[in-house]
Amino acid sequence: MAPSPEKKREHAGKSYLGIQFNCCNVYQRIYKNRHATAYEGRCPKCGSYVRVPIGEGGSSQRFFSTT
Ligand SMILES: [Zn+2]
Repeated sequence: MAPSPEKKREHAGKSYLGIQFNCCNVYQRIYKNRHATAYEGRCPKCGSYVRVPIGEGGSSQRFFSTT
């Protein structure tokens, strides 16, 4: 019997997320981490770290902004 992977869904070609960094008012793409549990990235200007968890079935939102 093959082991059933836990909700491991791959969205081909959609491995990044557009995010607006309000800290510096810049737009940047952030990418999935290696475990595909969240999108992670840093502000290109100040280096502020951002993490957007990926929910069940993946996030339907394409664009986020930091607070
Ligand atoms: Zn910033």
